[in-house]
Amino acid sequence: AQQIVLASRPNGAPKPENFRLESFDLPQADEGEVTIRVLYLSLDPYMRGRMSDAKSYAAPVPIDGVMEGETICEVLKSRHNDFSPGDIVRGRTGWRTMAVLKGDGLRHVETHGAPLTTAVGALGMPGFTAWSGLKFIGQPKEGETVAVAAASGPVGSMVGQLAKLWGARAVGIAGGADKCAYVKDELGFDAVIDHRADDFASRLASACPDGIDVYFENVGGHVWDAVLPLLNKYGRVPVCGLVAHYNGSSTSETDRLPATMSAILRQSLLVRGFIQTEFAPDHFDEFLSDIGPRVASGEIKYREDIVEGFENAPAAFTSMLTGGNFGKLIVKVS
Ligand code: NDP
Repeated sequence: AQQIVLASRPNGAPKPENFRLESFDLPQADEGEVTIRVLYLSLDPYMRGRMSDAKSYAAPVPIDGVMEGETICEVLKSRHNDFSPGDIVRGRTGWRTMAVLKGDGLRHVETHGAPLTTAVGALGMPGFTAWSGLKFIGQPKEGETVAVAAASGPVGSMVGQLAKLWGARAVGIAGGADKCAYVKDELGFDAVIDHRADDFASRLASACPDGIDVYFENVGGHVWDAVLPLLNKYGRVPVCGLVAHYNGSSTSETDRLPATMSAILRQSLLVRGFIQTEFAPDHFDEFLSDIGPRVASGEIKYREDIVEGFENAPAAFTSMLTGGNFGKLIVKVS
């Protein structure tokens, strides 16, 4: 079998030499373990954090350790009562083509009839992140304005569609004309702004004539600078991700702290960070039964960017951090 390990820690954007593709011998499964073949590997922005040894909410991947990640797999052999050959499961195999894992860490894939790949996208961790952050922290009320960046991605696309479903106005921010057209025309956001446009900040202001009540923060950087003056009194900011900063650089050299703190004070903002694992144990099943049928029926839309070939994972991952993906990034492994 094959695996991709962290060869060295990146300084800035990851480079090919930070990863290493290698072969390994698959061990025999013990009692309670399951032998699985990976069908799809999910690539997600948080993996950049695991490549770094800076303090974070989770331990870093050690040098020479297998890159972490969630996959959709087929069971080949099972020594666990809950699984049989042919079952489709999701588990944390990391970046591997095959694995032997404890059955207790695996879950059967349940997508209410939607394609399997949604189990790591719209109906998996990213979709749940959008749902839980918006429901428990953003709490949009009818008629309010909800803004979100990375709006064509799995988190942002779900945030905007849920905002609309729950009676709010959705304003998306995305990079480039194709993504913007998709967000407006296919996903049905009320407005969308290209954050690469020169007059991005003034366009965003025009798209939010009543200000912003909920800003679902996915990116930080120059998008945060443009959002900050538009936030309304008692605005809520679920801080979900800061992808503009993950490579250790920001597009602007300005110190954002004084402007940020002053807006929090003046506007009585609620700024609340979260990691979806905080909500998952109590609420994932509720999310799946609420949103699963809507995704399966096409009421809630999603887009996937499926890259062929395990060896292409590092380049696809690196490109995603600067917007190279269009939709949920997934590697088709076998
Ligand atoms: P996406 O598939 O949307 O990919 C990231 C996107 O970020 C890129 O496609 C790009 O979109 C956008 N982006 C990158 N750099 C910049 C920049 N400098 N300025 C503005 N936009 C930028 O990712 P996900 O939907 O998987 O994740 C979205 C966010 O949610 C991430 O920050 C991620 O870390 C976070 N997250 C947090 C979780 C939690 O538990 N807190 C769980 C899951 C995700 P574009 O081309 O449109 O700019």
